Amino acid sequence: MTERLYYEDSTLLKFEGKILEIGKEGGRYYTVLDRSAFYPTSGGQLFDTGTLNSKQVVDVIEREDNAVMHITLDEVGSRGDTVIGVVDSKRRFLQMQKHTAQHIFSAVAHREQNLVTMSVHLGEAYVAVELNIDHLSDKQLKHFEDRCNEIIYKSSEIEVLSLERAEAEKLPLRKPICREGTNRIIRIGTIDYQACGGTHCTKTSEVRMLKIIGTEKLHGQLSVQFLVGNQAFDDYALRFRVTSMLSRYLTCNVHELEDRVSTIHEENKLLRQEVARLQRELLPNMVRQLVSQKEICASHALVCACMDRIDLKLGSKLAGMVADQIDGVCFLSIPDRIIIGTSKNSGLNAGDIAKQISAMSTLRGGGSVSLAQLGGLSDGMNTEYFDLIRKVLSAL
Ligand SMILES: [Zn+2]
Repeated sequence: MTERLYYEDSTLLKFEGKILEIGKEGGRYYTVLDRSAFYPTSGGQLFDTGTLNSKQVVDVIEREDNAVMHITLDEVGSRGDTVIGVVDSKRRFLQMQKHTAQHIFSAVAHREQNLVTMSVHLGEAYVAVELNIDHLSDKQLKHFEDRCNEIIYKSSEIEVLSLERAEAEKLPLRKPICREGTNRIIRIGTIDYQACGGTHCTKTSEVRMLKIIGTEKLHGQLSVQFLVGNQAFDDYALRFRVTSMLSRYLTCNVHELEDRVSTIHEENKLLRQEVARLQRELLPNMVRQLVSQKEICASHALVCACMDRIDLKLGSKLAGMVADQIDGVCFLSIPDRIIIGTSKNSGLNAGDIAKQISAMSTLRGGGSVSLAQLGGLSDGMNTEYFDLIRKVLSAL
């Protein structure tokens, strides 16, 4: 059993402890101390990192007997030694911001719409709270976000209360408690009382900001994802940089970007249709030009060519037409893939040829007797694969 120093003080980052137990599992060492400020992964919150006697702590695990196991790559010391532990402050503070923000969001969802938090995920990239509802409108989510940020801005005090169950049950708890004996209750101003063993900020303003970034429906419940604190500000900086670049590039105001991009997208669609129409018109010429490049490879008629401005549909049609005209194989490299067409009378199987080329290269693909494709190409001209088809045909 390890005394959890973060229960009393989440801001304590340097401490001394005595080694009770050491061991080695799967090439890594574990150290159990009599007391520790390191938070082990539990309750949806990630473990702390830092050092024990200057040895990097790479994981912290809560054992069934309540001992905290500090995982290191190097040996920390011997049983009975006193060690100095230092918790990484940046990671701890971000976890405190995330955990506090989660309480605030769960409290708001409960107070505003009587929603119950079913599970929480305080991940590396974002926080997710699963609520017992399958849908919330954008307006409702915006309202929740605004309410959370109002609470953050008010800088309400956050207090850790150690209360016997009977005492704790007199408080307006958000969720009923089930633990007998002393319960650790996190009080956020007058808006939330919740039993929790995690690390939290001392004032709501330390969370700085909460920004909802998305929702996902999971098993009939709604998972709401958000960013907090420095991660939210970093994300804002990234989005500011990208939208500024786009507005310069498209010579419009940031507020006009959505309309501008939508117009360009539509124009692009029409232009693609027009290019496809013109290419269809030019198809007989393209076939003639490719047929003129015919070579004979081990008695098989073959055309190899790079066509960097045609799509898969037109490329397939072209490969089939050329293969029929030369009564052999047409091997076309188009953007991001290769198309293989074979004529009916050639006795060659395009799908088998594709499989043989796959076995000889990093390309992957297959197809039917008369048409096959290969993917996994790099951008630009891929003429190096022409020698592969010649090699395959020579062996047939
Ligand atoms: Zn908590």
